[in-house]
Amino acid sequence: MFDLLRKSLATGIVTSDYPDAPPAVAPNSRGRPVIDYHHWKDARPAAAVCPTGAIACTETTTERTVTLDLGRCIFCGLCAEADPVIRMTPACELATRHRAHLRQTARYRLRPDGTHGELIAGPPSSPPQPPPDATGQQLRDRIHQVLGRSLHIREVDAGSCNGCEIEVVALNNPVYDLERFGIHFVASPRHADLLLVTGTVTRNLELALRKTYEAMPTPRLVVAVGACGCSGGIFGRNYASLGGVDQVLPVDVYIPGCPPNPHALLHGILVAIGRLQPHSASPTTGSGPEV
Ligand code: SF4
Repeated sequence: MFDLLRKSLATGIVTSDYPDAPPAVAPNSRGRPVIDYHHWKDARPAAAVCPTGAIACTETTTERTVTLDLGRCIFCGLCAEADPVIRMTPACELATRHRAHLRQTARYRLRPDGTHGELIAGPPSSPPQPPPDATGQQLRDRIHQVLGRSLHIREVDAGSCNGCEIEVVALNNPVYDLERFGIHFVASPRHADLLLVTGTVTRNLELALRKTYEAMPTPRLVVAVGACGCSGGIFGRNYASLGGVDQVLPVDVYIPGCPPNPHALLHGILVAIGRLQPHSASPTTGSGPEV
């Protein structure tokens, strides 16, 4: 017993200072890919190796439109290996309330050999602001009024590989310590305020997911976790999968990543309940998109 106490005192406090301090992630961890759109000569090699179609091209005889969809990206780094204008960053605070904010689009004039000429339009330096989200704000105000600073989460795996679950479980360890925010996981949807959904929604889990949502008291929030939760990820929509969570339920916050690390999850949950200020970073930097 005394040995344990001595060890604990010697170890000191291990809990992360996040969100008061930036997320402490390893510098070589893989987060958001960043593209230098001004010097991008050809999107085709990166699009060809991207396993999820997160980089996609559509073209006419004179123009090419390239889209990078962070909601589909699994941060594999293959595009950065194929093209030096793309670099992987450790940026993980990517949660957003708007699915469209995870998409960046650039338009290029095409040269006869199919490489990029002039950049006609790049992604805006900060994502476009949607009209004021009156319903979402009312919901957040109501949640704050009803729940104060407390929040209960019911997690549902709608068809994940369990990668996201491993990161979700880490939220309860002493390093991330979700309970310091008054946020707890609960076993029953009847006690939950927020539904955290991992995985692409498999057709077998669709009914269970809908019933879980219906069993929750209002006001309630839905957070889609990971590339699969945001878009269906590598599975997409097929005979067994319906795709992202928003194909079945109204989603309040999207947390990209494969899997999103605990800081990314914490960021997304705090954004969902309005306890974290939105980021306003350029899509060409390493920071997260505006939320
Ligand atoms: S890091 Fe993302 S965009 Fe790049 S190849 Fe992998 S999935 Fe595609």
